[in-house]
Amino acid sequence: MDQSAELFARARTVTPGGVNSPVRAFGAVGGTPRFMVRGQGPYLWDADGKQYVDLVGGWGPAILGHADPEVIAAVQETAAHGLSFGTPTPGEVDLAEEIVRRVAPVEQVRFVSSGTEATMSAIRLARGVTGRGTVVKFAGCYHGHVDALLASAGSGVATFALPDSPGVTGHQAQDTLVLPYNDLAAVAEAFAHTDDIACVITEAAAANMGVVPPDDGFNDGLAQLCRQHGALFISDEVMTGFRVTASGWFGKDDVAADLFTFGKVMGGGLPAAAFGGRAEFMQHLAPVGPVYQAGTLSGNPVAMAAGITTLRATVERDVYPHLDRTAQVVGDAASEALTAVGVPHRLQRAGNLFSIFFTDSRVTDYAQAKTQDTWRYPAFFHAMLAQGVYLPPSAFEAWFVSSAHDDAAVERILEALPAAAAAAAAAQPS
Ligand SMILES: *Cc1c(COP(=O)(O)O)cnc(C)c1O
Repeated sequence: MDQSAELFARARTVTPGGVNSPVRAFGAVGGTPRFMVRGQGPYLWDADGKQYVDLVGGWGPAILGHADPEVIAAVQETAAHGLSFGTPTPGEVDLAEEIVRRVAPVEQVRFVSSGTEATMSAIRLARGVTGRGTVVKFAGCYHGHVDALLASAGSGVATFALPDSPGVTGHQAQDTLVLPYNDLAAVAEAFAHTDDIACVITEAAAANMGVVPPDDGFNDGLAQLCRQHGALFISDEVMTGFRVTASGWFGKDDVAADLFTFGKVMGGGLPAAAFGGRAEFMQHLAPVGPVYQAGTLSGNPVAMAAGITTLRATVERDVYPHLDRTAQVVGDAASEALTAVGVPHRLQRAGNLFSIFFTDSRVTDYAQAKTQDTWRYPAFFHAMLAQGVYLPPSAFEAWFVSSAHDDAAVERILEALPAAAAAAAAAQPS
């Protein structure tokens, strides 16, 4: 038995499904998840010593590649002075200032430890500010495993085709209105039907049902409808934030949401996330205002050091043009390889995030995303894996590139694609 298989057997005994986040279990692609022991630049090594070009990047944080020397040095230096004090620390001010400088509508931020906590807290704040209860979300948008937001969520919920999650009460689900993505008319209609909408939350660009960019004017239309009806507009930039531009998706569409949520890149690979927005709203939070929100590890000094070092490096090293080019080359090559063997597919992009849908037509919402030939993906995925390229283990996840993906790493991806496309072509519906 190889090391990963042995570890997986042990893990399944002591952890449900052997994993601490469902999509890692390879449920959608079959086979044994690889237990990774090391990362360097664009590469990962598993417990059996096999090397992979990584296109998951820790689901986003590894924008500089793995074990970036500058980030590791900052973490080591900070860690040597103690891990957590339960007091304010200077690093929190540095990172908050950096975020406020980059995302103009964000005047104040509050740090938390995960994207889930960020969206959960933003919704509580929106309800506290407006005195209303209903949350509008879009089918296929994933905002973490917040009870009220698990209805028709993307990511692992899409991967495992869970309609909703047991354990979420009827009351919580009733407070959530799930509408089709990219459908402004449905949102207008919802506002016409009820005056109880506290907020509309959307992924700034949807990338957890595969990549489905917002239609022109969609985000702006949401912001306007919220303004007209006294609801708050929450732009979830946990995935897009500081990844698609130095100021996230906001740097592309310039839509001033009332609240933003951030995570992934801003923690540099350690647990850090944030929500923020206009000071008049953020001032409703304790200790200034009555909306309670707290965290033992919030603003953890080591996580702050990883985050600020990562964010500064993205600008100092001017990584975004490289990320855009790399995403272009890899996405185009994947699409060409599939075209060459006649596999129907659509390559969809949101900045340097991209994914491939095994379908003929453009995907603009979750209903369409789910009609793709997902049965082709396991064959494609495993052919890439066998050739040393680590793709997301689900057809509903974005591919992530990093500034460390150099010509050699990209070349290895390109070389692997034709065989993977052939495997996808030969796949049969199960
Ligand atoms: C990853 C993600 C989250 C959840 O973040 P966690 O840190 O996994 O809790 C929320 N929103 C979006 C858009 C995400 O991509």
